[in-house]
Amino acid sequence: MIVNASILKGKEFELIEEGFLRIDHGLIKEVDEGYERGGVDYRRHVIMPALMNSHTHLGDSFAKEAVSGLGVREAVGPEGRKWQLYERECEGLIIAGMRESVEYMLGSGTTFFADFRENEKKGVKMLRKACEGYPIKKRILGRDVDINYVDGLGLNIYNLNQIPEDRGNKLVAIHAGEEKEEMSLALEHKPDIIIHATLATKEEIKEIAEGGIEVVVCPRSNATLGVGFPPVRKLIDAGVRVSLGTDNVMINSPNLFREMEFLYKISHLSGSLSPIEILQTCTVNPAETFNLNSGFIEEGRDADLVFIDKDSVNMRHSRDIIASIVSRCGPADVSKVMVGGELIVDRDERQNRQSR
Ligand SMILES: [Zn+2]
Repeated sequence: MIVNASILKGKEFELIEEGFLRIDHGLIKEVDEGYERGGVDYRRHVIMPALMNSHTHLGDSFAKEAVSGLGVREAVGPEGRKWQLYERECEGLIIAGMRESVEYMLGSGTTFFADFRENEKKGVKMLRKACEGYPIKKRILGRDVDINYVDGLGLNIYNLNQIPEDRGNKLVAIHAGEEKEEMSLALEHKPDIIIHATLATKEEIKEIAEGGIEVVVCPRSNATLGVGFPPVRKLIDAGVRVSLGTDNVMINSPNLFREMEFLYKISHLSGSLSPIEILQTCTVNPAETFNLNSGFIEEGRDADLVFIDKDSVNMRHSRDIIASIVSRCGPADVSKVMVGGELIVDRDERQNRQSR
């Protein structure tokens, strides 16, 4: 399959205004300038790598805004309201909520997520069931479960004793830095990934960088729970790879466009981030962190792609397409989503059918 379109190529998203992509057996085989004869005409679109959500709790989808107005401890701490809500809810509704969030993510161009799945082995099984039939890629980070049953562990600061001696090639991710003192405790356990790092000190940022630890930030969640704003500029400047997550669905929609816009705009109050750096937190960076062969458009990478309608009423007249994607674009501007070379969302096709 050959498609003619605008394309954001490579790790720095170099804009090819008039270019083509050749896709074969799920992989990008060629990307270059100029329209190719016989290619499908997608000139109305700009093709970008599909988005990756590096931190979710999809299990929470059954109770949106149920912790509104609460601080981090009251909402999601050991005795937090979240756990009371789970106790009262039936399994069927929790699974249905997760499934709806998966559908929402795919429809808005997110084709990968890394989830902290609570509730032991049973909870992991529920998420696997919810994902059945959807071509979404995922990493499930469980707790109170054998590490070999999952892609890794997703822990809170109060269950670090679950980290086994031998981790094999599994990931260990820890929520830390929403409250003081959490960072130093987490760092003692040498995690692969720290989620948040919001209150990390200068010394802790240095330790993260020297330890080669990956960081996932969730700025909308931090703001809602009154935690602060993550030091993304300082982390990147220290050489840390930073990815972006939307955190609990109780608090946020798993909508990375909103998360990118929030991070971009608030960053101007304390160490500005560029649109390219922001887009990398949802593509290039998580591809490295979670070892995925997608995340940017280059020969040999998986064809996991999003086609943005650059002529929608929202996107038209953009003078800087990457800045517009980061600060303006939304799910309604996503025309097509491709996973492994297959179009799994095609809104243009649906519109064409309706107008026939
Ligand atoms: Zn979380």
